[in-house]
Amino acid sequence: MSENKKAEKIVAIKGMNDILPADAHLWELFENTAQSIMQSYGFQQIRTPIVEETRLFARAIGAVTDIVEKEMYSFTDSMNGDQLTLRPENTAGVVRAVLEHNLVYEGPKRLWYKGQMFRHEKPQRGRYRQFHQFGAEAVGFTGPDIDAELIMLCRRLWDDLGLQNIRLELNSIGDAEERARHRVDLIAYLEQHEEILDAEAKRRLHSNPLRILDTKNPAMQDMVNQAPKLLDYLGAESLAHFEGVQKILKANNIPFVINTRLVRGIDYYNRTVFEWVTDELGAQGTVCAGGRYDPLIEMFGGKPTPAVGFAMGIERLIELMKAAGDIAEPSQCDVYMVHQGEEAQMQSFVLAERLRDAGLDVVLHCAAATGPGSFKSQMKKADASGAAFAVIMGEDEVANKTASVKALRGEEGEQQQATVPFDGVVDHIVDQIAGCGDDCDHDHDHVHHHRFH
Ligand code: ATP
Ligand code: MG
Repeated sequence: MSENKKAEKIVAIKGMNDILPADAHLWELFENTAQSIMQSYGFQQIRTPIVEETRLFARAIGAVTDIVEKEMYSFTDSMNGDQLTLRPENTAGVVRAVLEHNLVYEGPKRLWYKGQMFRHEKPQRGRYRQFHQFGAEAVGFTGPDIDAELIMLCRRLWDDLGLQNIRLELNSIGDAEERARHRVDLIAYLEQHEEILDAEAKRRLHSNPLRILDTKNPAMQDMVNQAPKLLDYLGAESLAHFEGVQKILKANNIPFVINTRLVRGIDYYNRTVFEWVTDELGAQGTVCAGGRYDPLIEMFGGKPTPAVGFAMGIERLIELMKAAGDIAEPSQCDVYMVHQGEEAQMQSFVLAERLRDAGLDVVLHCAAATGPGSFKSQMKKADASGAAFAVIMGEDEVANKTASVKALRGEEGEQQQATVPFDGVVDHIVDQIAGCGDDCDHDHDHVHHHRFH
């Protein structure tokens, strides 16, 4: 390429973020913790495609929602004209897959998923165009017990991640009939206060009045606080379900507040709705939203099948993890291989493979454009890698069929260096790791991942 035709840099799409190595360990920690909690409650993972037919979301999410009205990345497949959409959430895809593969044929299923979601929103803190959700869908369960279980496993996740100050808000939105009776009174009430309604509320007055109760507009707060409460319209069955959830939460010491304005403006949601909310993230304080959607599966053409789920926004939780304190970046490896000379490099390759066979993570020093670098500069790299040991191969080591093993942890001056026969290096390092003291809970048969202890 000629000098004056410098290539233009291509950058990521607005609102879509790279997750760089410096943050990746937080994502791994979140995902590993969440996955193991799901497993401990008997949930199984499901992975569905990122792209689905547009009409799947229109039907599952509801036509008069923010998502379907204005946030979906939809496009026409240029090969065949199909109307497709990048998933804005994953309940629709999971429910489609459950029906397509008849997953509840043998009984109820506890499912979880994680992955990218796409919404064309105005990018801001905690609100991105590509973001990640971790979610669960429990399909085929009727009682309040599973609602409480979903809430409790969220709580366990916050605890395991060391996140405090996430509070639980709970409500019941009853069933369609109860909401229909409330809706008549609510619309009448809102019409009496039409002068206070903002443009968005006016637009929703007849399409989705429940969502108006959710408004963040300060000028409307007093008015919506006085509005007819859906909770007052619930019948005996809905109330019993709601009380069932609360009873289990109380018995397990899970604090919650009932927020009568917590709603889902979507017809297929019913009964329990909940949100986990924090004040530490500014305006985007909801880290997890969930609820029942008993009517949805029948709307999708399946047999009536109750279901309940939640979705959490991983970006917001990662931000909370960062705020909660320093989570040290794990070391890059256990052993860093330092070498000088062609034969020493060859021997280092052999040794590195043997160490990996023993379950250790090994980084082999690779030459930069300027050459392999001096021992001194390589040792600096070894230190920076966080490795517990450097294995050094030079001319002497090659000649004597040995390697030098230097312990990099511990106080300066106390770092021991030993010359070890080439064939004894793996055992030497494994022994040293195994003998590293009482405060170390190594699995001595299998040293893998001891760095994270
Ligand atoms: P909001 O009121 O913040 O727009 P929502 O009702 O659109 O939320 P849900 O569809 O219930 O959100 O999604 C569940 C969770 O996913 C949210 O509570 C949030 O943590 C996360 N989330 C939703 N949209 C985004 C986004 N654009 N960027 C990052 N996280 C998001
Ligand atoms: Mg939204």
